[in-house]
Amino acid sequence: MTLAGLLAAAVLGLAGCATSVPGDAPPQPQVSRSATGRSPVTILVSIDGFREDYLRRGATPTLSRLAAGGVTAVMHPSFPSKTFPNHWTLVTGLRPDRHGIVGNRMESPERRAVFTMATDDPWWWNAARPVWVDAEKAGIRTAAMFWPGANVAISGTSADTGRPGPAGMRPSDWVPYNKAVNDTQRVNMVLDWLRRPDEIRPHFVTLYFDKVDTAGHDHGPDSAQNLQAVAEVDAAIGALVAGLKVLDQPANLVIVADHGMAATSSNRVIALDALADPERYHLIETGPFASVAPQPGAADEVERALLAPHEHMQCWRKADIPARFHYGSNPRVPPILCLAQPGWLIQASAPRQPFVGGNHGYDNMAPEMNALFIAHGPVFAAGRVLPDFDNVDIYPLLRQLIGLPAAAGVDGNGAALQGAFRRGGASGVN
Ligand code: AMP
Ligand code: ZN
Ligand code: ZN
Repeated sequence: MTLAGLLAAAVLGLAGCATSVPGDAPPQPQVSRSATGRSPVTILVSIDGFREDYLRRGATPTLSRLAAGGVTAVMHPSFPSKTFPNHWTLVTGLRPDRHGIVGNRMESPERRAVFTMATDDPWWWNAARPVWVDAEKAGIRTAAMFWPGANVAISGTSADTGRPGPAGMRPSDWVPYNKAVNDTQRVNMVLDWLRRPDEIRPHFVTLYFDKVDTAGHDHGPDSAQNLQAVAEVDAAIGALVAGLKVLDQPANLVIVADHGMAATSSNRVIALDALADPERYHLIETGPFASVAPQPGAADEVERALLAPHEHMQCWRKADIPARFHYGSNPRVPPILCLAQPGWLIQASAPRQPFVGGNHGYDNMAPEMNALFIAHGPVFAAGRVLPDFDNVDIYPLLRQLIGLPAAAGVDGNGAALQGAFRRGGASGVN
């Protein structure tokens, strides 16, 4: 079925099909249901690029209220602090080197194929199983109002792409990614799913907002436009919370970001062509980090040029990337990684136009990359601030909230977020 066909299908409640997006109409209140009539839903909300300190800028009445009545902490992304690698980590508990989405753009030497953010060929994604697949297998219905990878037929083959079928698994309800679907429509879609009768109502939902990241890139993290985007997403989450209340739907909300944002400028650019002959290497990604593949026979020359000390940038052979990045053993990581100091950009050549903006992809422990974490709901403590943690620990928390057994062999630590539960809360989950 084509994308348009999937959207047109509008088959609410049909397993394995994308559902249509509702309009802006406010959710219809439902006739009263008892508070005990509904079991809590787990809603994983991602606000792309929401740096942790945006919470303290006076623009977030809803998020600040949820934080005050729930649990907060500084969350560190995984390296590289990019969107696709980190969204996949959040739902798999594996660092990018292990789950295989090692960048927003990748090239496979084995397959001579290129991965971009529009790629839904399962081959790229199959090294890890997202939490919704285990939930669906356990009979727990899931729904995704966008999430990188939610449109991919996991464990399927390339032939399954775009065709829901038994070979690959997606959430029961999902929506093909479309930036033009506005925040209100996204929230209304989630509320519509939750308005269904229990048998076809999701018990785990993802919800994704992109506009804070976009404003951060275009105008920088300290811009008025960024603050406006923060306020708008806060209002959308306010509408979600209000809609849940109308439905009398208890919810454990886990609100996260994939990474933060650092201010960038054309005055802070490292031009690679000034360091090495651009004919002698191929660039896979550039920006806060650059991934570099020397041309055949050019490895020594390119390494000599790049591995030497540089101001504002350090490069390593993939085998020598410091262990704390947990990065470099995956075949998809190119032979050389160059990492810029936060706020600097590595580009193929010097910029032609002056610019200011924002970017991410830096050292995942840089304070500018700190990501939002708020947990709020019946199982969570109120007003608790936890120590910093790594985003691999979100996945074990999600499994616990959904009622799945703890997973073995992931990078996340199931014990890390036990302090988030209110007394007796952890045993009360589902
Ligand atoms: P980044 O380049 O790391 O800043 O990626 C952020 C961008 O990813 C956002 O502007 C989104 O439009 C885009 N994005 C998020 N989810 C998806 C998706 N499922 N498919 C394609 N693009 C996406
Ligand atoms: Zn992002
Ligand atoms: Zn971004």
